[in-house]
Formats: sequence, C-alpha cells, structure tokens
Amino acid sequence: MERISWDEYFMAQSHLLAYRSTCTRLAVGATIVRDKRIIAGGYNGSISGGVHCIDEGCYVIDGHCVRTIHAEMNAILQCAKFGVPVEGAEMYVTHFPCLHCCRTIIQSGIKTLYYAQDYKNHPYAIEQFKEAGLIVKQVPFNENKMNPHYEDQMQLTFDLLQAVEEGAADSQDKVARLRQKAEQLYPAALHLK
Ligand SMILES: [Zn+2]
Ligand SMILES: [Zn+2]
Repeated sequence: MERISWDEYFMAQSHLLAYRSTCTRLAVGATIVRDKRIIAGGYNGSISGGVHCIDEGCYVIDGHCVRTIHAEMNAILQCAKFGVPVEGAEMYVTHFPCLHCCRTIIQSGIKTLYYAQDYKNHPYAIEQFKEAGLIVKQVPFNENKMNPHYEDQMQLTFDLLQAVEEGAADSQDKVARLRQKAEQLYPAALHLK
C-alpha cells in the first residue's frame, strides 16, 4: 500500500470526524494542525449534551440550521477550552467554510486553510481570507486511497466486464475464478449469493 502524504492524512482525519456529525444537512469535519501534529478536531454538532438534529430534526432559521456549531468553530473552541494556542496553525476542513467560520478562522490566528470540497464558496469569504493573508488551498480527498483493496476491486470489476463482453458466462472455470476473487475481496457480501 502506498504511503499517504501529510495532507492526505490530516484530510482523512477531517473526513473521519465528519462521520460524527449530528446535523443531517451537511456533515463537516475540521482538524487543526501545528508542526505536523493534530492539536484539535471538530465536527458540526449540537452544544454538548443538547438534542441532535438527527433525532429532533434541524432547527432552521433563514435557511440555516442554528442548532449546530460548525466543525471549524468546534475545533477552535476546543483549543480555547483547553488553552491550546492556535496562532500560526493550519486547518484541514472537508468543505469550504461559511462566512462566520471564515472570520473566526482568521481571528483565531490560523494561517493556512486546506479544504477538500467547494461549498457555496462565498466571494466575501474568499476576499477576507485574501486580505488577512491566509494561504487557502484546495486539497482534494480521495477516500478510495484509504481502502487497501481498491486496486484489486477495480481490477475485478474490469475482469468481470471483460468476461461479460467475451460472453464467458458458459465458461464455468472463469466464472468460478471470478466468484472466488469476489469472495476474497468482499467477504462481507458472502450472503449475497
Ligand atoms: Zn441541523
Ligand atoms: Zn461555518
């Protein structure tokens, strides 16, 4: 398996955090990094101990869910809570931040922002990041790279397609081999026979 880069590692961490999100509107994760060390992480969710959007539905005002604290803010607030300096740090976030988070990120002293996906990139946020001198860079995240069997699974799909094109359905040997390969690569799908 290919060794992943630091950018991929931190971005993977943010995507993992996004799975903890409790808002059904968008799952976001953010990781704060200093000197190649993760110092904090956050996802969009309710105030600690509060009810979750996934249980009670979103609380929407003017088209925004106001129940949740955004991932970027949660990560920064975690640093505030435990007194961890953020000055000069880097943030890795799954989606381009909203206007509120944009200003919070700038004001916290974070100097570099890496984001994976464009998300309603507000021109004013872009302008403010530029004015503040933040380095903002898109780092696309390929979740497939986290799957050590990805190449083999892809190969199997193409082998299957080729067998179909060749009309190999009558070739018991070939079909048995492909099935064996599939069972190795997808053990969880054995019951699908
Ligand atoms: Zn919500
Ligand atoms: Zn936000």
